[in-house]
Amino acid sequence: MKIAILGAGISGMALARFLEQGGVSRDSLHLFEAGSVAGGLCHSKTVDGFTYDVAGGHILFSKDAEAMQWMKDEAGGDDAFVTCDRNTKIRFDDKWVHYPFENGIGDLPKQANFECLKGYVDAWHQRQLTGSPAPKDFASWIRWRFGDGIAEHFMDPYNEKIWKRPLEKITSDWVAGRVPDAPIEDILKAAIGVRTEGYTHQAIFYYPKTGGFQGITDGLAATLGDRVRLNTPVTNVRKKGDRWIVNDEEFDVVVNTISLTYMPDLIEGMPADVAKAMRELEYNGLVTYLIALDRAEHPNLSWIYLPQKSQGPANRVTYMSNYSPGNAPEGKTSFLIEITTPGGQPFPGLDLEEDVIQGLETAGLLKRNEILFTDRSQVNHAYVVFDHEYHRRRDLALGWMTEQGLHPLGRFGRFEYDNSDQCVIKARAKAAEMLPDLLG
Ligand SMILES: Cc1cc2nc3c(=O)[nH]c(=O)nc-3n(C[C@H](O)[C@H](O)[C@H](O)COP(=O)(O)OP(=O)(O)OC[C@H]3O[C@@H](n4cnc5c(N)ncnc54)[C@H](O)[C@@H]3O)c2cc1C
Repeated sequence: MKIAILGAGISGMALARFLEQGGVSRDSLHLFEAGSVAGGLCHSKTVDGFTYDVAGGHILFSKDAEAMQWMKDEAGGDDAFVTCDRNTKIRFDDKWVHYPFENGIGDLPKQANFECLKGYVDAWHQRQLTGSPAPKDFASWIRWRFGDGIAEHFMDPYNEKIWKRPLEKITSDWVAGRVPDAPIEDILKAAIGVRTEGYTHQAIFYYPKTGGFQGITDGLAATLGDRVRLNTPVTNVRKKGDRWIVNDEEFDVVVNTISLTYMPDLIEGMPADVAKAMRELEYNGLVTYLIALDRAEHPNLSWIYLPQKSQGPANRVTYMSNYSPGNAPEGKTSFLIEITTPGGQPFPGLDLEEDVIQGLETAGLLKRNEILFTDRSQVNHAYVVFDHEYHRRRDLALGWMTEQGLHPLGRFGRFEYDNSDQCVIKARAKAAEMLPDLLG
């Protein structure tokens, strides 16, 4: 029995480990990885003693305690992790606003506080009066849920930065469970300065002591050893009877974790409508900058959001050296900056860095003379974009893959907004589904 797993990010490697733990021989597993390192979006980079996560700041947290413990155990156990208290804020002019924004409106200048509160109450009242259902497009959803004030001061500018599209073009499908849903009493209290939490999810998170978030996938890769074929891009997949040929080698089973958008170029014999649907799935890329700082200590923050245009193109800043002492040399600190880019388009040029630094200066986050050096990374696929055609295209793509017996898995293998813990949970479920056939 030969099993090909396409892509050695956390999804592919977790699947391999679950199959092995379920009784499949390690020798049956063959992971194809284009990169020179396994880990995919969990990849981290170390430059001159400063470590950062190349696909933006990553933290380990899961509602599924068993999955989270499994991830820790695969990466050296509890002792290999730092336990961090989450402290996230929004930068608004020269103020720090409690996160989530609606629970922090009391931190705003008085006029903005009033506008946000009035809008929130008006929107709430409107929903009570009319019982209007949640609008489908995200722009209308924001005003329906939060009102005009929060839309104008935070939700619109912040989401325009992240999504790089007019917000009418995306749906509100993805917000459930991701955008907190605060009761009106909490917002009334927040506006008059009584602290309400709003978001207790991830109050504590974990981070590998060394090697950045990649410490987790390094653990998996070390166990899988030579089963992961690095520098081995998949270039061709085709069916031969009830078996599969991957790069001229025969396999019984194929699981794909590579982005669906690449599949039409790799799989032979795909119907034109399926290929079109896959190619047109929308996504965003990401540019990240490590900023190494000659600064001994950071404030006690985990990450912050930058909603305002004057703060430059970055939407989020992670206080990377706060995650683990292993992330920066003694007496130094670092930032990790994220800037999304429209998927499939050329990445911004080198001018971007100057815009980012100017924005951070305006936001009062750094002084230029503190910067030791910067390092830039970019990833093609960072965020799934939930445009109005998302479900139709994805259903067609996944339906065809499944019908062919090509198991789809992973954040872009299934085009889902999954964090690494959900990738692990889905890999565990996929292994459970496959094991009876593989062992029977
Ligand atoms: C900005 C941002 C912040 C995030 N924050 C968190 C967080 O805090 N916590 C968290 O748990 N998760 C977080 N995530 C999500 C997490 O990174 C992903 O869910 C996870 O890494 C996806 O893993 P995957 O294996 O499904 O996909 P990938 O990591 O994309 O793996 C796919 C693999 O396929 C390989 N590949 C591509 N093409 C080919 C080819 N032709 N041949 C062979 N191999 C190929 C790639 O090199 C890659 O290794 C974040 C993601 C982003 C973008």
